[in-house]
Amino acid sequence: MAISSFHPPVRTLMGPGPSDVHPRILDALGRPTLGHLDPLFIGMMDETKTLLKYAFQTSNELTLPISAPGSAGMEACFVNLVEPGDKVLVCVNGVFGTRMIENVTRCGATAIRLDFPWGTAVDPVAVEAALKEHDDIKVLAFVHAETSTGALSDAQALCGLAKKYQVLSIVDAVTSMGGVPLLVDEWQADAVYSGSQKCLSCTPGLSPVTFSDAAVAVIKARKHPVQSWFLDMNLILGYWGEGGKRAYHHTAPVNALYGLHESLVMLQEEGLENAWQRHAAMHTALAAGLESLGIQFVVPAGQRLPQLNTIYIPEGIDDAKTRQYLLANYDLEIGAGLGVLAGKVWRIGLMGYSARMENIILLLNALAAAMSEQGYSSDAASAIAAAEAAVD
Ligand SMILES: *Cc1c(COP(=O)(O)O)cnc(C)c1O
Repeated sequence: MAISSFHPPVRTLMGPGPSDVHPRILDALGRPTLGHLDPLFIGMMDETKTLLKYAFQTSNELTLPISAPGSAGMEACFVNLVEPGDKVLVCVNGVFGTRMIENVTRCGATAIRLDFPWGTAVDPVAVEAALKEHDDIKVLAFVHAETSTGALSDAQALCGLAKKYQVLSIVDAVTSMGGVPLLVDEWQADAVYSGSQKCLSCTPGLSPVTFSDAAVAVIKARKHPVQSWFLDMNLILGYWGEGGKRAYHHTAPVNALYGLHESLVMLQEEGLENAWQRHAAMHTALAAGLESLGIQFVVPAGQRLPQLNTIYIPEGIDDAKTRQYLLANYDLEIGAGLGVLAGKVWRIGLMGYSARMENIILLLNALAAAMSEQGYSSDAASAIAAAEAAVD
């Protein structure tokens, strides 16, 4: 039997990523492919670096997209900065913190693990105590926006502690970029990685990274070569670096980079502050609507990510059945719980192009219908009115 072309339906993506991709970005992806050393393409790469510096709020020279998803950006930060025998203090308040531990261990280094309850922010007081206790730590690693739980940590305070105790910081900003303030230079963060498919609303598969001068100096002074050939920043710079000579390292994902470029042009057009403000306003609207449906948030107010809302599944409502209902009847995707929260929560993303009122109205209608179907009385009209009133 001949297999025919794949034509996916148009879904509304309100999970933990990917988010809805803006039509302008989908258009950009289909433009003619250039050679990866074509001067016009290299010009676009330079613009992408400039736009990424804006998105990261940094003047770091070493700012570029890794040709692989956010997980590769994470790995790039660890393999370049961490050597065998090093000690890394890792804050764990969700799934992505546990992956940082894996990265440290696989670098042949020792992870000192600091746990925080899932659904809460990293506590800087505990981090400072650990930095005081161990005087041989090289790197402090934490997740700014924990997408597995919806908690936002105080990256400014944590990077400040790293500077105070003279250790490097590695910051996971996959979900934070474009959704909440991320000020790499002002906070003096050393190595920060992000992802294309969360608040940038681009397709998945690219990971912007940035390294401070202090981080670059540590990479240059390494005793062992970086264990990963593909992610060795020294080699990647031969292709992405400043100056005339660009040498082949790997074939850049040319069309995917058109998409990232377009998403960053859109971010520049909207303005970073306006993008942060839009995510905050849409979160306020969604929270008012969900509260009207009697739904409770997992994360305490003040520590919540606007772009990722983790809510308890109401008593008597079936997790999988509800998500299937939303997909089948509304072409709407929301996220399930991860790790210790599996089966207990849903994760509702308001990332990038998904953070708009029409998505919130669709979600409230769909969720109210799914809950009514399972015998829970819910009033969609009041929930939508509450959401709209919250941002009036
Ligand atoms: C999504 C995500 C990642 C991983 O990104 P991928 O593109 O899925 O590899 C890492 N950290 C956080 C906080 C994320 O939300």
